[in-house]
Amino acid sequence: MAVIIGIVNAKGGVAKTLSTLNLGVELSRRAGPVLMVDFDPQSSLTQTLSIVAEEENMADVLGITSKGTMNIVPIIHSVENGLDLAPSDILLSRTEMTLIVRPAHEQQLARVLETVQDSYHYILIDAPPSTGMLTINTVFAADYVIIPTQLDVLALRGIGLFLESLVDIREDYGRAAEMLGILATMVDLRTRHAKGVLEALRQRQDLRTFETTIPRSIRFSEAALEGKAIIDYEPDNPGALAYAQLAEEVIQRVTEKKAVN
Ligand code: ADP
Ligand code: MG
Repeated sequence: MAVIIGIVNAKGGVAKTLSTLNLGVELSRRAGPVLMVDFDPQSSLTQTLSIVAEEENMADVLGITSKGTMNIVPIIHSVENGLDLAPSDILLSRTEMTLIVRPAHEQQLARVLETVQDSYHYILIDAPPSTGMLTINTVFAADYVIIPTQLDVLALRGIGLFLESLVDIREDYGRAAEMLGILATMVDLRTRHAKGVLEALRQRQDLRTFETTIPRSIRFSEAALEGKAIIDYEPDNPGALAYAQLAEEVIQRVTEKKAVN
């Protein structure tokens, strides 16, 4: 049974998508097959991996287009051996309006993923920058969430808000993902401000901030332009090492949680 992890934050531009890609590559090479689900109508992950948006995608799977619902398996693309992608499209933005009227609207993604859970070790969901229907479905379907954030004070507010919505979703729908950890991204510890924010995060034990931080590097964007994870673009870049370490931490934390449950 796959472990499902949502990569979430109501804020955009915090490296949700690049973390999904880089962690996806690392986990697939260490642990076993990984499915990345692009669940953001902006479809950055789909576009980064050069998958044509007009093809069938998560909007069709959720049945929010005119075609009616379809199985997820036929929309899945192979990115490389052991790493798959379920693509998104701008049409996914209709979900907010369409799903709300369905019974069990929060369970739609969970039901879809149930059908492929036995085929993967990990399923990573690249969530949109919102707290709407798509995020509710992500948090309901996922076992855990990772919250990437930049190290500034405004970003901290975003995390606070997200944690509140996790609690709300758990209360309203009876289930919600557990916190796996906060991931500091685009880190430049030369500034005092960034250091202070990282320290503040680490002091909050409930946030379980990962030991690994992801350094800021222009190479991430360059690699993404070529549809690559940083490890395949510049293997000795500190960013490549960071995502490899993150994958180790994720595997370790998931193993620990499983032992407890
Ligand atoms: P989100 O999905 O949260 O909106 P993205 O993964 O799309 O965030 O990243 C936002 C922007 O920041 C992109 O242009 C991406 O290339 C860039 N970026 C992501 N991670 C890093 C990093 N570690 N260093 C420098 N730029 C980064
Ligand atoms: Mg994104």
